[in-house]
Amino acid sequence: MKRDLLIVRSFFRKYYEELGDTIYVRNPSEREFMFMTFDGKVRRHFTFKDAKSLREGLVREAPRHAYYSVSKYRDPSAPMEEKGPISSDLLFDIDATELEGCGQEDIWVCERCGAYGHGDKPKKCPKCGGQDVKLLHWLDEKCMIAAKNELKKLINLLREDLGIKEEDMILSYTGNRGFHLRVVSEKYSSLSKDARRELALYVIGSGADVRLWFRKIGALYVFDPPSGQAKRAMQNLFTIKASENLKRKVSDMIKGKPTRLSSRELSLISSLISKSLQEVSPKIDWMVTMDTSRFTRIPNSLHGKTGFRALLLTPSDIDEFDPFRASPIPITEEITLKVRYPVPKFRIHRNLFGPYSEGERLSLPANAAIFLILSGRAEIL
Ligand SMILES: [Zn+2]
Repeated sequence: MKRDLLIVRSFFRKYYEELGDTIYVRNPSEREFMFMTFDGKVRRHFTFKDAKSLREGLVREAPRHAYYSVSKYRDPSAPMEEKGPISSDLLFDIDATELEGCGQEDIWVCERCGAYGHGDKPKKCPKCGGQDVKLLHWLDEKCMIAAKNELKKLINLLREDLGIKEEDMILSYTGNRGFHLRVVSEKYSSLSKDARRELALYVIGSGADVRLWFRKIGALYVFDPPSGQAKRAMQNLFTIKASENLKRKVSDMIKGKPTRLSSRELSLISSLISKSLQEVSPKIDWMVTMDTSRFTRIPNSLHGKTGFRALLLTPSDIDEFDPFRASPIPITEEITLKVRYPVPKFRIHRNLFGPYSEGERLSLPANAAIFLILSGRAEIL
């Protein structure tokens, strides 16, 4: 293992020793666990009999990433086909990486010659022709604003359209660019893969035949159904650029008034609603929701690409939630670093750092230093 990672791992271990009692997983003895170690190995098909032994396992192994299964099993340590699934939490995954405004500080780097640049990762290094080019993500505040916005849309939809109560939602920050939401209500834990798929497609507004939302009564149209995604998409039309006449008709239809529409207007409103539906729909990874063999990070464990805590949250925390303030581990020791690639400005707790240039040497509090090491931007001197 590289020396830098050994040192980072020792801080991870110290965190689990000192703050391990914040680690809690429901029904640990029925879950499968998965650890990714600092030397790149994946360990899975094991379980812990209770929270105490889980905490001890985290101290012992101090993994780079620590996950637990969405499903509960009769025998979680058995090979996949023999585990015997009991039920599965309904999982939603929000990752800001593909969202607008995120990724502006990402860079590609060439491991061979040290060249780097912004923008899409080239197939080979434009300077030396080497193939060993990788992308270094950067967790910036814009990503988190975008991700929080999607999370709020998701919670609202689950509450309003499906009647899911807040106490049945387990919400956690991933420690990097996203959030996980598990619905733990019994009503959803036995859903089939097909039902999960259908539900996920509803959430992202996929496959909706918008024209079916308009019912013709004589020469007039009513907008039906007047609820759920359809209603939100319709209401969102107020923000579009359209003629006053069309806006008034949209407003009438939201109020439930039968409204006269020419076929041109009907087709225009339908296509606007299709676009609008995409805007109001939470951007979840729908493949994750349908897959009951998934894992999510153990709440309050550390993320191996940032060193941040995967904090448990409640819906009312989201607006105020600031990962740069709440998630870094509380340590004051300093680590001396050499910057490998440019570092944008960043914030840990209340302290501002950077920007730093390539080659710069500096001494930083360990939580800021770990963030830079794990982001691939700096190494320990
Ligand atoms: Zn190169």
